[in-house]
Amino acid sequence: MLKPKTAEEIELLRINGDLVSRTLAEVGKWVAPGVTTAKLNEVAETFIRDHGAIPSFKGFEGFPAALCMSVNDVVVHGFPSDTPLKEGDIVSVDCGTLYKGYNGDSAYTFPVGEVDAGTRKLLDVTKASLYKGIEAAVAGHRTGDIGHAVQSYAESFGFSVVRELEGHGIGREMHEAPGVPNYGRQGHGARLAEGMTICIEPMICAGSRGVYLARNGWAVHTSDHKNAAHYELTVVVRKGRAEQLSTFDYIEKDSTIKF
Ligand code: MG
Ligand code: MG
Repeated sequence: MLKPKTAEEIELLRINGDLVSRTLAEVGKWVAPGVTTAKLNEVAETFIRDHGAIPSFKGFEGFPAALCMSVNDVVVHGFPSDTPLKEGDIVSVDCGTLYKGYNGDSAYTFPVGEVDAGTRKLLDVTKASLYKGIEAAVAGHRTGDIGHAVQSYAESFGFSVVRELEGHGIGREMHEAPGVPNYGRQGHGARLAEGMTICIEPMICAGSRGVYLARNGWAVHTSDHKNAAHYELTVVVRKGRAEQLSTFDYIEKDSTIKF
C-alpha cells in the first residue's frame, strides 16, 4: 500500500496546486495569435517567483524552461520558442511549482483565437475525460478504474489515448508512485487509499495514438502530426469523491475569454 499524505502535507500540496492554477490563468491572459511561447514562459516564471516559489520544471532532468509548451501535434514536453502562435493553434501549457518542499503540477490546453470545430471537440472531450478520471479516483478503487474512465470516454468520440505517458503520485517529488495510466481495466492497478495525492493527466489524440520523441529528446509528437490535447489536475483521493487541489476555475470563471 502506498503511503497516504498527512493533513499537513496535503495543505502544502494545496498551496502549490493553487499557485499552478493561478499561474496557468496568468498565462491564459496572454495566449493570442502573434504571442510566442517564450513570452508565456517568462510570464509564468515571473509569477511563480513573485509568489516565493520555484518553477520546478526548470532544470528537471535538464529541461530548459519553467513551462512545457506543446503546440498542435506536440503532445507534451515541448520547449518554449520564439515562434509566434497562430490563429487556430492549440497550446498545452504544463506548469510545475515547488514551494516549501512540495510540488504543484497542472496543465491546460488553450485555443489560440478561433479554432475549428473538430479541434474544439478534442479540447472539450479531453478535459471532460480528465473529470471522468477524477470521478473514478475514490478510495478503494484502483488506478485502472481511472484509466478505464478516461479511455472509454475519449474513445467513444473516436479519439485515441497516448499510452507511453501517464499521470503520477505527487508530494515531495514531482513524480511519485503510483503511475496513473490514461487507459486500463477496471479493478486493475494500484489500489487508491484516502489521502493519496495524484495527478491525472489525459493526453488525447485527434488521430491515431502513435507518438515519437523529437531529436531534442523531450518533445513528444503524434506520429500522424494531428493535434493532441492535454489537461492535468492534482487531486487527493477521498472516500466517495476526490478533492481537487488544483482547479481551472481561475482560467474559466475569472475570464471573459471563452476557453
Ligand atoms: Mg504536468
Ligand atoms: Mg504531471
